[in-house]
Amino acid sequence: MRYSQALIPTVKEVPADAEITSHRLMIRAGLLRKLASGTYTYLPLGWRSLLKVINIVREEMNKSGAQEILMPAVQPIELWQRTGRDIDYGPTMARFEDRHGRQNVIAPTAEEVVTYLAAGEISSYKQLPMNIYQISFKFRDEFRPRFGVLRSREFIMKDAYSFHADAESLDETYRLMYETYCRIFKRCGLDYRIVEAEVGEMGGSGSHQFTVPCESGEDIIVSTEDGSYAANLERAAVDPLPKEKTGGKIPPMQDVHTPNIGSIEAVCAFLKTEPKEMIKTLIHADGDNVIATLIRGDHDLNPEKLTQTLGGKAAELANEATIEKASGAKVGFAGPIEISDKVSKLIIDHAVAAMTVGVTGANKTDYHVKNVVPGRDFPLEGDNVIVADIRNAVEGDTYNGKKLLFKKGIEVGQVFKLGTKYSEKLGAKFLDETGNEKPCIMGCYGIGINRILAAAIEIGNDDNGIVFPVSIAPFEVLVTCVNQDEKEVAQTAEKIYQQLLDNNIDVLLDDRQLRGGVKFKDADLIGIPVRVTVGRKSVAEGNVEIKLRRESQSQKVSVKEAADKTIELVNSLKEQLNR
Ligand code: ATP
Ligand code: MG
Repeated sequence: MRYSQALIPTVKEVPADAEITSHRLMIRAGLLRKLASGTYTYLPLGWRSLLKVINIVREEMNKSGAQEILMPAVQPIELWQRTGRDIDYGPTMARFEDRHGRQNVIAPTAEEVVTYLAAGEISSYKQLPMNIYQISFKFRDEFRPRFGVLRSREFIMKDAYSFHADAESLDETYRLMYETYCRIFKRCGLDYRIVEAEVGEMGGSGSHQFTVPCESGEDIIVSTEDGSYAANLERAAVDPLPKEKTGGKIPPMQDVHTPNIGSIEAVCAFLKTEPKEMIKTLIHADGDNVIATLIRGDHDLNPEKLTQTLGGKAAELANEATIEKASGAKVGFAGPIEISDKVSKLIIDHAVAAMTVGVTGANKTDYHVKNVVPGRDFPLEGDNVIVADIRNAVEGDTYNGKKLLFKKGIEVGQVFKLGTKYSEKLGAKFLDETGNEKPCIMGCYGIGINRILAAAIEIGNDDNGIVFPVSIAPFEVLVTCVNQDEKEVAQTAEKIYQQLLDNNIDVLLDDRQLRGGVKFKDADLIGIPVRVTVGRKSVAEGNVEIKLRRESQSQKVSVKEAADKTIELVNSLKEQLNR
């Protein structure tokens, strides 16, 4: 491509909503333009990069034996009603009524449609296992689209779905996808971490996320110092805390008047105590079941862990009326004393069970209680009492005796063992060897194509612009002609450009009638990994300069050898990513 004719609108100014580096650079380097909140047009450089990511994903998926298909983005809502996910997805899933009054959704993902397909096409164990995937647009009406294409409303996803006769077969494909993902992210030049993840809305029994550690990530990766354990904060387990030592006998409980003082901070300020001395009582409800949870004042409840403790049933924070009924007090004054008699379950976090004494709500409006001893003043065991890990890991926690570290990361992909949730509800069944009908066991595997690009830029940049990995750069080589108005220089650049084209190198020729300085600035901004600089002085000596974007030194190469040397360099950069 010739720069003089290309749509590469580099700019100095960035919009105020571009909060993170990759978003700013994608706008500045002319990869992207915003259309509306969370929707973007990819310009030639951005789209070329995305296509390269897509190609890598497609190649590796095909190599794994998965088959590519394409499913509709507009889907009848009935399928989603059959799995209950029309409700689970809530306003994140966009819906519309067509001219015939039929309700449709715009696909945020495709478990329902693919399982419906399988229900029609799979009948025998002989067809299994089967792994099918697509690379297509998804729409999620995200509550807060931000960070450019990291969290957009419309995005491209590779979504794969596997169908199996038994759990071992699912394990095998899951492992294969896991390894395929490792190769994909490696080839895309990403430094990634694999972490255990929660299954969330998707349902199922196991999941891993592939994350790229970086400051702008929205996920928190928790790992042990030695790297033997890594999990998303939503899941990260912690060791129980050691029982605090008692400093002698604790006096009996005592009510304290705390008028209109309900929040942890306010109570602490009022009673001159610290959040870690407090016991928070949160009332949850799952239908008619009311569940009380106890968390230390300085800790956060982990809803995913609570769901696991409740056997996979998600409980929501209860409404005001339920809280007041269970505690007998206004919101802000619930406490553990005698609460186990009034709720269907009392779930106590390990850290609360380890406290010797605490301050908590009195189940009486405007009152708290001091000198509350877990085990003495409320039970730590019983029919409806469970002590469990239901909080988020924090700095200072350990797991398996090893210190936990916290890092932010971008989730670029996730793999799930789904089980039979979808196949049962949508009738994807097969006959096994003995002629018994069984639901297919499923797995699903997603990759955010746009997020790969944004994550690569997030970790690959410097003060001057993007530093692309060669595999997903819009072009592999940029030939910069410094003196376009001088015939010999222009001809030399043109010749090298043609030679590279002839050798299937993705090359951009900067043939614009501009000063060298401007061209170099743009070159650094758009981040093409190899630059061949053709200028008056070096051409007079029979040379050109070759420079890697990621290095500051350039090397002189004779005009004759320029193309060969460049090709060699591109190949060695590629090999580094394939190893
Ligand atoms: P998140 O937790 O970040 O919202 P998710 O877990 O809901 O993502 P999945 O359903 O696992 O996403 O989708 C598969 C992949 O699609 C994700 O790993 C991510 O890379 C990508 N993805 C999801 N939502 C978005 C989005 N709003 N914008 C860009 N990519 C996305
Ligand atoms: Mg995910």
